[in-house]
Amino acid sequence: MANRAYNFNAGPAALPLEVLQRAQEKFVEFENSGMSLMEMSHRGAIYEKVHFEAEALLRELLSIPDGYKVLFIQGGASTQFAMIPMNLLRSGTKAAYVATGSWATKAIKEAKLFGETSIAASSEAAAYKHIPSISELKYDSDAAYVHVTSNETIEGTQWAEFPDTGSVPLIADMSSDILCRPIDVSKFAVIYAGAQKNLGPSGVTIVIIREDLINKPTTPVPTMLRYDTHADADSLYNTPPTFAIYMMSEVLKWIKENGGAAGMEARNREKANLLYEAIDNSNGFYRGFAEIGSRSLMNVTFTLANEELEKKFVKESEAQGFVGLKGHRSVGGLRASIYNAVPIESVSALVSFMGDFQSRNS
Ligand SMILES: *Cc1c(COP(=O)(O)O)cnc(C)c1O
Repeated sequence: MANRAYNFNAGPAALPLEVLQRAQEKFVEFENSGMSLMEMSHRGAIYEKVHFEAEALLRELLSIPDGYKVLFIQGGASTQFAMIPMNLLRSGTKAAYVATGSWATKAIKEAKLFGETSIAASSEAAAYKHIPSISELKYDSDAAYVHVTSNETIEGTQWAEFPDTGSVPLIADMSSDILCRPIDVSKFAVIYAGAQKNLGPSGVTIVIIREDLINKPTTPVPTMLRYDTHADADSLYNTPPTFAIYMMSEVLKWIKENGGAAGMEARNREKANLLYEAIDNSNGFYRGFAEIGSRSLMNVTFTLANEELEKKFVKESEAQGFVGLKGHRSVGGLRASIYNAVPIESVSALVSFMGDFQSRNS
């Protein structure tokens, strides 16, 4: 495809071209069924195969050990901000949150609606330019859970490694970096992620949850917001977002064909290194937002000398086929989101545009 944009959107975000083309081939008629996948029952054999294949691929690619359920839920990661405390924060206990940026803040706000919270550590005073060090974390030994945001999509910071919270369940929002690198799932009690950054289109959120945490909540919780509802029905309690799950299964196949989580990490490190080097070698023309040790592999955030120059950067980049480089409205600056599906060619093109723009404006 000749005129595909250099897509740096933060989410929904770039999908692999091969995946779009494969889905297009099957769009009108799926598996000789006389109809598209979107037109058939979620209780039929054809859809069920797609559904359980997506789950099996996630289990394989993340090496999810026995004893975990993989759920497909709607409502985005934002609904998980509420479902987690509704289901797991029992009265008399406290949930500890690490305040790393915009998304962690939203998760905390929601938890406060349902129970007691504490801040295990915060980098707010440093404008969320870094992830607090693991040794700083403070929480009760009987805390309901510790919640972390593995990648702060807006600030462009990422946990390089995760704390060992022992018997306290560790919960991670991995919406913007799931499968960008291998992780040890057994360290976590719950991992959740909206699909629209690294796994597919919007519409489905995956929740990987340790089975011993799936209980009947002690306070009344709406049926659709209970983990046991979705776990007991293999995420088929009600109509799932069938097309989004199908697209996710195709993205997962693509990840598998491209070396799995380790293959993604190698690609992502190469892309991120190119961009961070361009920033670091610009003699201060481009200024990285995140502190070096907390830099994200997924969202590269940077600023220019002033807002006017940033606007010019965005405008000229758009004229040259780049999309999505404006920073989030809450923090400003510039951001290149380089999720799994963003090809290295897009990043090389951006680096060369950055060099060009600098020489014309310094
Ligand atoms: C995008 C994002 C969310 C919100 O996801 P929705 O699916 O829009 O609710 C939550 N957390 C992180 C880290 C994100 O990047």
